Amino acid sequence: MFAQTMFRRRGPKWLLATGILLLLWGCSEPQPSALERIQKDGVLRVVTRNSPATYFQDRNGETGFEYELVKRLADDLGVDLQIETADNLDELFAGLSRENGPVLAAAGLVSSSGRRSQARFSEPYLEVAPQVIYRNGQSRPTRPEDLLGKRILVLKGSSHAEQLAALKVQFPELNYEESDAVEVVDLLRMVDEGEIDLTLVDSNELAMNQVYFPNVRVAFDLGDASSLSWAVAPGADDSLLKEVNAFLERVKQNGTLQRLKDRYYGHVDVLGYVGAYTFAKHLQQRLPRYEQHFRQTAKTREVDWRLLAAIGYQESLWQPNATSKTGVRGLMMLTQRTAQAMGVANRLDAKQSISGGSKYFSMIKQDLAPELEEPDRTWFALAAYNIGIAHLGDARKLAEAEGLNPNKWLDVKKMLPRLAQKQWYSKTRYGYARGGETVHFVQNIRRYYDILTWVTQPQLEGSQVAESGLHVPGIDKRKPDATTPQM
Ligand code: GLU
Repeated sequence: MFAQTMFRRRGPKWLLATGILLLLWGCSEPQPSALERIQKDGVLRVVTRNSPATYFQDRNGETGFEYELVKRLADDLGVDLQIETADNLDELFAGLSRENGPVLAAAGLVSSSGRRSQARFSEPYLEVAPQVIYRNGQSRPTRPEDLLGKRILVLKGSSHAEQLAALKVQFPELNYEESDAVEVVDLLRMVDEGEIDLTLVDSNELAMNQVYFPNVRVAFDLGDASSLSWAVAPGADDSLLKEVNAFLERVKQNGTLQRLKDRYYGHVDVLGYVGAYTFAKHLQQRLPRYEQHFRQTAKTREVDWRLLAAIGYQESLWQPNATSKTGVRGLMMLTQRTAQAMGVANRLDAKQSISGGSKYFSMIKQDLAPELEEPDRTWFALAAYNIGIAHLGDARKLAEAEGLNPNKWLDVKKMLPRLAQKQWYSKTRYGYARGGETVHFVQNIRRYYDILTWVTQPQLEGSQVAESGLHVPGIDKRKPDATTPQM
């Protein structure tokens, strides 16, 4: 009886409500997935960090490892890429969860267990090791206990802060600071200059930044290797993450990822760690003496002075008295013949050498086939500067015969080493040449050029720095009190 009353009393209302719900449900569109929204908007919004290892602006606009990789994802999706930079890691993760905020974080992030509540991670794209960094000349820490009593600073909210927190459980006397006002470049500079004793950064960041900080050394790897992944908001649906994982698998398979790794992190392989410290030292001690000459001559030749400086470093490590056994001499290592042709009276005079070498480089660049377009044209000009236009022409013909593109540096680069192998050079017009060396020559110069570009980029240097010589990145970015931890 009671049940019946209840039924009678609630029945019609309940039926009505269900009916309305069904009606609404039938009429409303199903919610679009995260991926569908990106496709509909035509924009992929990504949040990252501003650092040489992730994202920065250079002469050609936006660049950096993360940028280049995520740009390819946007291209594959057929949408525009919109980058937002977060000032620190907390802001980065908050951005990801913000309504109408960025949908993907591509920022050199370790997919640590402590971050599971802040994000969902993709498959890994780079293996890294967390490294304790100390200053050359100080005693080298070799195990976690050695961190006790040291002034340690790490990025706030970083995987390293998480590691130190875990370590503190084991060693309660361990003290460290976290800061959200610094980037990895600042941490390394502070170790380099002795402002702090130690920091922790990932090996990819050190590989990218070692060249700026001559005194920075790896003490030891703290814990196991970890991996970097991209991240989406914790509550996001699967659609974007699935697409991202499929993309990462594709770039692993087709070699794109490896090429990017070589380009951004490969210079430590190219230079070696010792070469990287040395470059950093020379950047501070030698380049300032010649910077004005490079700048002046670059203006008349309409080339980027940093490219000329990069050639000078490759040729002589910026030493005006350099001499080789084969009789090439001076900062730009000119032969007697080239020097004469370029009107250089004294090859050992740095200013004359720079001006002669630059003139020679611009002439070669102008003489290249008109179908070679930038940026490849610059790499071809460097190759020709090293091996001569005739041999470069041979390598381009070999590329064509292989069905490769003779106007693409990446393709011709593969052919250059063949000029040193009889089975190939016997078929060319100009014969044997040490093409493998040319590939290294160009690769090294590109590397130096990239470094110089980052070091002198306008967003970091302020208007005066360029005039007063080179500065390491990050120094002028924030006020000193913001980067100096209170310890
Ligand atoms: N990879 C670090 C992290 O995930 C940030 C950059 C670094 O310190 O290497 O927190």
